Amino acid sequence: MQVNIKHLIDDVQCYQTVRELRWPEGILCPSCQSKHIIKRGFDDTELARQRYECKDCETRFDDLTDTIFAGHHQPLNVWVLCLYFIGLNLSNEQIAQELDVNLSDVQQMTTQLRAGIVKKSPKKSCLMKLNVMKRMSLLAIKAIP
Ligand SMILES: [Zn+2]
Repeated sequence: MQVNIKHLIDDVQCYQTVRELRWPEGILCPSCQSKHIIKRGFDDTELARQRYECKDCETRFDDLTDTIFAGHHQPLNVWVLCLYFIGLNLSNEQIAQELDVNLSDVQQMTTQLRAGIVKKSPKKSCLMKLNVMKRMSLLAIKAIP
């Protein structure tokens, strides 16, 4: 029997990892940076994806809004595992092999991950990049049971 690593982490852990990476100090509104956020249930198709609404500007958003994961064809667990393997210093070729994803996709993903997970102004994403690099190996390891 072959164990596929993609099945070892579930969506709940993946979304939790994304939340901890993008909002280390608590959820912030992506449009006005307010901390007055209320939860608005979960996504209809991705049941672990939390939705929110900002009490100050009424913007609705979810865990993946404004991140590089939104709208990408790879599922979130592939991204989180990619982060984990970057933390382990695996090469793109090794990551492609482990995840059974083609190399050009892995190259694109690791480039984006290293630039930061939130699409923001250059100054912000630079700060985010530092945070992510500091936290990614720790968090990613936590995501693996
Ligand atoms: Zn707001």
